[in-house]
Amino acid sequence: MIRCLLMKRKTAHHRAAFLFAYNTSMLPVALISIIFASTASIASAAPVAAPIVSFYPENPIQGQPIAVMVARADDASVRYIMLGPKVLSPFEYDGATWALYGSDIKEKPATSTVLVSFADGRIVRSHIRLNQRPKIEAPFGIPAKLGGNTPAAATTLVNTLEQENKGLLGLETAPQSLWNKPFSYPLKDSIITDDYGYSRSTVGQNITHKGTDFRANETTPVLAMNDGIVRLVQEGRNYGKTVVIDHGLGVQTFYMHLSRIDVAQGEKIRRGNRIGMAGQTGYAEAAHLHLTVRINEVSVDPIVFLGLFK
Ligand SMILES: [Zn+2]
Repeated sequence: MIRCLLMKRKTAHHRAAFLFAYNTSMLPVALISIIFASTASIASAAPVAAPIVSFYPENPIQGQPIAVMVARADDASVRYIMLGPKVLSPFEYDGATWALYGSDIKEKPATSTVLVSFADGRIVRSHIRLNQRPKIEAPFGIPAKLGGNTPAAATTLVNTLEQENKGLLGLETAPQSLWNKPFSYPLKDSIITDDYGYSRSTVGQNITHKGTDFRANETTPVLAMNDGIVRLVQEGRNYGKTVVIDHGLGVQTFYMHLSRIDVAQGEKIRRGNRIGMAGQTGYAEAAHLHLTVRINEVSVDPIVFLGLFK
């Protein structure tokens, strides 16, 4: 159900400007300013139903993914979508054109212009505000197998994490979306034990938790969140046995601390396939699944990401 308020005015420079307020059962209310910058004449043509651009979440905070969704009532295809200076990759999903943006947890809160360019020359501009994430800090220890709670172990942890993180960048991603169904949770019973985005104070060092931890034991099957290609299988000092699945367009899911891996690098995988078993390899004090979701190499809140595809 979509309700629209429409106001039309003509200016010397713009063919028409529209102001929409819309509300649907699934999407938040938003005000979107749409400017027809095209010089092509539309005065004599039949009225064209304007595209509706919406965002989820409506009020994102640092570290959250942002979905830009373009619902169209006509056949005009989207040429490109930009958020600030970044060009996003549009894809078709659920009857609309989408693009995903990953806001970094340290990205400066600001308002950005979102520009949607259509093949027929129309350009639609709207705005999205990235808000500050509340700072949460909690103590977090180092397991004895990695040296325990000593300053030397904490320094080694930070340095080796930096090295390991570098090795997880630059992984190949498909130029098209490999999925056409919603992303699903990686465990049959998903109970969150540690949230994304808080700062772990570890013997004088602060390490931001850029993923979500789920309760699991060493025989809990870990499932692929969507269709994709296994890009990396490895065992690292801190992340332990790790599988990375590429879903295309820069969307990648990382499954860490596994006790067992059942897939090989390069393997095509379907949503819900078992990729291994949860575990406590690497920097883990007990068995659990650590899940990271990246959009163009930016780690975003996995639970908000899952919520995009309801
Ligand atoms: Zn974790």
